[in-house]
Amino acid sequence: MDNTHSFDHRTSSEGLDAQPVNWELAVASMESVLSQSSAHRKTRLVDLLVQAENMLMDARRIRQPQLANALDRLLHAIQQELISPAEDFSRLIRLIRHIDRIIKNMLLISHKDALPVALIISAQEPSDVLRDALSRAGFAPRTINAQVLNQALEHDKIKALADEAELIMLLAQDDESFANLELPFTLLENELRHKTSLLISSKDSFQIRAASAKAGVSHFLTEPLDVSRLNMLLQSSRILDEENKPLRVLMVDDMVTAGVYWGKHFQKQNINFRFESKPEQAYRSAVEMQPDIILLDLYMPDIDGIDLAKIFREHPRLLDVPILFMSTEENDRRRMNAKIQGGDDFLNKTIAIDDLLKMVRYRALRYRQSMAEKRSDSLTGLLNHNAIKDLVEAEIDRANRQNQPLSVVLIDIDHFKNVNDTFGHQAGDIVIRKLSNLLNTRLRRYDGVGRYGGEEFMITLPNTDEQTAAHLINRLRVQFGQSAIRTENGSNMLCTFSAGIASFPRFLDLTSLIEAADQHLYVAKANGRNRVVCSEEALGASPPKPD
Ligand code: GH3
Ligand code: MG
Ligand code: MG
Repeated sequence: MDNTHSFDHRTSSEGLDAQPVNWELAVASMESVLSQSSAHRKTRLVDLLVQAENMLMDARRIRQPQLANALDRLLHAIQQELISPAEDFSRLIRLIRHIDRIIKNMLLISHKDALPVALIISAQEPSDVLRDALSRAGFAPRTINAQVLNQALEHDKIKALADEAELIMLLAQDDESFANLELPFTLLENELRHKTSLLISSKDSFQIRAASAKAGVSHFLTEPLDVSRLNMLLQSSRILDEENKPLRVLMVDDMVTAGVYWGKHFQKQNINFRFESKPEQAYRSAVEMQPDIILLDLYMPDIDGIDLAKIFREHPRLLDVPILFMSTEENDRRRMNAKIQGGDDFLNKTIAIDDLLKMVRYRALRYRQSMAEKRSDSLTGLLNHNAIKDLVEAEIDRANRQNQPLSVVLIDIDHFKNVNDTFGHQAGDIVIRKLSNLLNTRLRRYDGVGRYGGEEFMITLPNTDEQTAAHLINRLRVQFGQSAIRTENGSNMLCTFSAGIASFPRFLDLTSLIEAADQHLYVAKANGRNRVVCSEEALGASPPKPD
C-alpha cells in the first residue's frame, strides 16, 4: 500500500489544551498594573479594564456570581475613573482587595472539595505513621471497618466510598484480619484493578502476596513500614492522578482499514488513539506523542514489527513503553519467538475487542504507574531533577505553539548548611518538606514544582510573564520567611529563600532559561539573600528589593 495515512482521535479536552484560570495570579497582576508608576495613568487603566473584563467572563463561565458582581463593580469604577479621574486609585485598590478576598475564599472551598480521598479498609485503626504519610501526600483518609462488612447494608456503602476514593488501602495485622479482607476483595474487584491500591500486612507470606495480587492490588507492603517507599508510592499515585489524562495508544499497521476499525473502539473508551501505516511516520509519531502502549503489526511490507520495535527502543523516551505485537497466524509467532525481547507480547488479531481493550488498559496503566514512580522525589514527593527538566522542556514547546509566556523559577534555601549544623540533618529535612508543601499548595495545579537538588527547587509557571511570576514568588518568599518551623525536639527556627526567575520568550530554550534563572539566583545570593531577582533587576533596570 502506497498512500500514507495518519489520523488522530483526540478527546476534546486534550486537544484544546484548556488552561484553568489562575485567579490568584490574575489579582496579583491587577495590583501590579496599578502600582506601575512608570506607565501612563490611562494605559494602566485600560490594561486593568481589559484584565477585569477577561476575569468577568471567566467568573461567569465557572458560575461564581459573587465574584462576577465584584468584578462588574470594578469595571464600572474603572470606566468612571477614565471619564473623570480621581486623585488616587484608592477606590480601585479597595475593590481589588475585596476581589482578592472573595477569590481566597473560593479557592479555600474548592481546594477542600478537590482533596483526594484514601479509603482505608481495616479491622484496626491505622497507625500514626500511616496517617502522617497520607496527609503529607495530600490525602484525606476515610476508614471503614472490615468486620462490619458482613452486613449486606454496608456493601453499597463501601462500593460508593471506593468509587470516590483515589487510593484504596487495605490493612491486615494477622491471619484473622487478612481473612476479613476476602469480602472487600470480591466487592471491590473492579475498583482494586483500576485504581492505585496498597495492601499493608504485618505478616509476609507467599499466600498473602498471591491472594493480594490475585485481587488486583497494585502494591504490597509489610510492617514495619518502609516509610520512604510508602511516601514514594503515595506521591507517585498523586502524580499519576495529575496525569489523569486519557491513555495514549499508538497502533502501527500497513492495513489502513485496521486503523479505522480499532480507532472507533478505542475512541469510545475515551482513549487517545493514533494510527500510522508507514514505519517512518510511526517512529516520528511515537517520539512525539509518547504513547502509554504501542500495538505493532508483526508483518509490514517495508519492515517487520520486531525490527521497528528495536528502532523505537533506541529512543530514550520509548525505552520502556510496552509493545504488543499483533499477528494473524500462529505460525508467525513461532517464527518470530526467537527475536522477541523480554516484556513484549504477541496478540492474535482475531482477539475479541473487549479483551484487547482490557489488556491495553492494564498494560498502559502499569506503565504509567512505573513512570510516575521514577519521576518523583522520595523526600518531598515533588517531581525529581530529571522530571522537572522534562516538564520545562515540554512547557517551552507549548509556550512556543500557543505564543504565550512561560516563567521558570529556581529557589534555593538560604544558609541551609547552618540549619543542618545547628539543628541537625533531620531538622533540615523538615525545612525542605515545609517549603515543598508551601509550593505545592500555593501554586496552580498545572504549575510544575520539582526538587532540583538538595535544597534547590525548580518551578514552571505556564502562561505567566516575568513580572507576574516575580510578584507571586515574592509573596511566597515573604510567607515562608515569616512562618516558624518546628523541629522534632521542639525548637523553632526561621528560614528564608532566594529565587532567580527567567522567562520565555526572552530566553528561548531549556539551557538558556535555566542558566539565566541560575544567574539571577546567584545575583540574589550576592545581594544579601532572601530576595527574588528577575531579568529586569539583574540587568540593573531597578534596584533589588530590600528585605
Ligand atoms: P546559600 O545561602 O549560599 O545557599 O548557603 P547554603 O548553606 O544553603 O549553601 P550550600 O549549597 O553550600 O549548602 C547546602 C547544604 O544543603 C549542603 C548539604 O549538606 C545540605 N543538603 C543537601 N541536601 C540535603 C537534604 O536532603 N537534607 C538535608 N538536611 N540537607 C541537605
Ligand atoms: Mg542554599
Ligand atoms: Mg544550594
